Amino acid sequence: MYIKRIDLFGFKTFADKTVLDFGDGVTCVVGPNGSGKSNIADALLWVLGENNVRNLRATYNTDVIFSGTDKRRPLGFAEVTLTMDSSDRTLPIDYNEVAVTRRIYRSGDSEYTVNGTKCRLKDIYEMFLDTGIGRESYSFITQGEIDSVLSARPEERRELFEEAAGIKKYRYRRKEALKKLEKTKDNLSRVSDIISELNTQLGPLEKQAEEAKAYMAMQSRLREIETSILVRELKNAFGSYTETVGERKKAEAEAAKADAEADDLRRQ
Ligand code: ATP
Ligand code: MG
Repeated sequence: MYIKRIDLFGFKTFADKTVLDFGDGVTCVVGPNGSGKSNIADALLWVLGENNVRNLRATYNTDVIFSGTDKRRPLGFAEVTLTMDSSDRTLPIDYNEVAVTRRIYRSGDSEYTVNGTKCRLKDIYEMFLDTGIGRESYSFITQGEIDSVLSARPEERRELFEEAAGIKKYRYRRKEALKKLEKTKDNLSRVSDIISELNTQLGPLEKQAEEAKAYMAMQSRLREIETSILVRELKNAFGSYTETVGERKKAEAEAAKADAEADDLRRQ
């Protein structure tokens, strides 16, 4: 794997779109003091996700945007694209050429793309893990840093060696796995909270269900009883109705007989 080219636009001194074709085997960049050599190194770090402004020799993260000169107005955003040749598949994605782009606006919003597809900084960080390239890796040693490596505390130096030895990836994965585990534990305790809450509701609900069942049985028994009472009342009413009709007929007959007798008596 090697750096193929860098496209810079609006990054620090690179107000115009600038393309640096590295190709395989470039060993140095020369230029007068203050001409922007270190800015190229900054661009490399930045595009790979460096967010520590001090490592970028800046105070605010928007300081990397071209800030203008007497003759030129400042720009609204900065963009750097780093194109790597990965035909040896050093990077774990299936492309010969991998182009990583980072863009920042004056608002401070940053965006990243890999081969034109938007992605998170995390994706870029993971892609470059243990390749030796990337922020906090041993491949970027800036002016004055050799000294600090030599005088670093053993733990700090160990990190450098671990990255070089390819252990960092596993440490990173372990950390991520532990984070997931912690989250799963949290979820688990939430679920058991819910279960115990439901369990306390279970007792009263069971009692209520029994009461409801008993209520329903009594209700249907009540309907049966009411129906049989109605039937009986209906039968009684019908009986007294036929009796009354009979009595009425008898009374009518008696009335007719009495009428006839009265007629007889009147004639006599
Ligand atoms: P040296 O040989 O001294 O190390 P160098 O070639 O590494 O120099 P750099 O440090 O890359 O030079 O460039 C420094 C220049 O970049 C300064 O002139 C500084 O004003 C300019 N610069 C930094 N940030 C910006 C910015 N946001 N906009 C415009 N110019 C900037
Ligand atoms: Mg420099």
